[in-house]
Amino acid sequence: MKPDAIDIKILEVLMDDGRASFRQIAQRTSLTTPTVSSRIARMTKAGLIKKFIPILSGDSVNRGVTTLLTLKAGSASVQKLAEDLAKMREVEAVYMTTGQSITLKATLDSVQSLQSFLAQNVLKKKGVEVTSNQIITSTVKEEPPSLLPNTLVMNLKCDDCGGDVTSSRPYTISAGPSRYYFCCKTCRKEYLAEHGKRLAKISHKLDA
Ligand SMILES: [Zn+2]
Repeated sequence: MKPDAIDIKILEVLMDDGRASFRQIAQRTSLTTPTVSSRIARMTKAGLIKKFIPILSGDSVNRGVTTLLTLKAGSASVQKLAEDLAKMREVEAVYMTTGQSITLKATLDSVQSLQSFLAQNVLKKKGVEVTSNQIITSTVKEEPPSLLPNTLVMNLKCDDCGGDVTSSRPYTISAGPSRYYFCCKTCRKEYLAEHGKRLAKISHKLDA
């Protein structure tokens, strides 16, 4: 399922100001507040919006040494190594790249710390070698993923069968603050048969 024009409008406002209220977004997009709130809930549920966080300015924080490291590992261990590295606080980004390589971005307080980080976490591992280690001297551009509508995907799962919800206007049930999504009419019906009573308690607005 892909975000539609309404989702994109909302995302555009959020990408500019992640703290904009539902009401402010509604005003800026000429949508209603309930539309804004249900669309944001849907995009969050589908994993398109991961979280809202402050973006610290790299220049205003004395961040020590930031490096881009490229590692080569045997094909069996490359995925595991990437996952292990991704868990570390010092590691800001991990990319799997062509040729069984991993490129990562790590920040440490000094060159010495960087060396011991490498010694402990990378060089000790069998079959892993550092093919490039480049310390960043200045950041010219660093932005979160940009909003290219055709590249966005939402993985909204049917609350009944767990299958993909592919329609841009999915079957839904609203109960109180929650909204449930379904891939088809049948799933919605099944879900209502099983959970209808519970949902009706949550909301009287439920239309079956
Ligand atoms: Zn389904």
